[in-house]
Amino acid sequence: MTAKILDGAGVAKSIKDEVATEVAEYSKRGLRPGLAAVQVGDDPASQIYVSSKVRTCEQLGFYSERIELPGTTTTEELLALVRDLNSRDEIDGILIQLPLPKQADAALVLNSVDPAKDVDGFHPVNVGRLTLNEPGLRPCTPAGIIELIERYDIQLKGTRAVVMGRSRIVGLPVALLLLHKHATVTICHSRTQDLPSIAREADILIAAIGRTAMVDVSYIKPGAAVVDVGMNKVTMLDDLERYYGDDPKRRAAFEKNGYTLIGDVNPREAAEVAGYLSPVPGGVGPLTIAMLMRNTLTAMKMRRASWGVNTR
Ligand code: NDP
Repeated sequence: MTAKILDGAGVAKSIKDEVATEVAEYSKRGLRPGLAAVQVGDDPASQIYVSSKVRTCEQLGFYSERIELPGTTTTEELLALVRDLNSRDEIDGILIQLPLPKQADAALVLNSVDPAKDVDGFHPVNVGRLTLNEPGLRPCTPAGIIELIERYDIQLKGTRAVVMGRSRIVGLPVALLLLHKHATVTICHSRTQDLPSIAREADILIAAIGRTAMVDVSYIKPGAAVVDVGMNKVTMLDDLERYYGDDPKRRAAFEKNGYTLIGDVNPREAAEVAGYLSPVPGGVGPLTIAMLMRNTLTAMKMRRASWGVNTR
């Protein structure tokens, strides 16, 4: 069997196009979703992520604000900033780029974001709504995984789903979303015994563990849909050859950047046995920003509706 590739980049583009169309309609009525992206310190990866989110806002017609603060910013200063953003009507979504510097209390700062503007979906109120399957803002990567599966018409209802990883950002929320789609869900983690035999029961296998290519053929039921969330770097030439053979694209990326990205799934082995496979890069990654944009639009609609504004 050769797995069908789940084109996350293509699905992300469709979602962004849909959001841009809706935003253009709302703008005719004077409504425009707004996102504030807060970055503290000069972590290069955070700078790239925030730039990309702000750029996507511009492309889709959102109002956006990039707030860059020095690495010495205190918890109190961040709490004051969030209070201000919470109170401003033109800001529908507040994104605090993680990690925050050590002196800042990340949990306190994140929990001070108004749940109605919590477009990352990390606030305990939104986690509670997710758990109870009530309307609310869902975490972007897990919501993107469900979109990817559903847009390929892969059945969830009644299937066996195994989620490897139980983090607050990916594993736990995606397991809840799968449960609410009526899959029978098993969550695995670092203390799970005999992981391959559990994973092999899965019709839907979600790998979100941050372990380079750990999921090999022994974890995959023939025909399963495998979603690879992991983002790891291959930095050794031996590993490049082991995982990608003489793939010229991979070699070129490796030579240019000194690494190539790989997921938690062994790509060559999985491609031979899985029914569907999300690639790394180009699978789950692009969906995260697309879902952030959709969450910001949803936040605008939910907030305006709560003031009695017609958002239909
Ligand atoms: P965390 O490190 O927070 O969580 C990893 C989870 O995997 C934990 O629950 C851990 O178990 C479990 N785990 C670790 N090793 C094993 C193992 N050998 N066997 C079974 N379970 C194991 O990571 P995240 O959830 O934040 O991210 C997971 C991966 O997804 C990373 O590679 C990350 O880069 C990527 N990611 C990708 C995103 C995207 O947009 N594409 C977005 C977010 C993350 P335990 O709880 O017992 O410690």
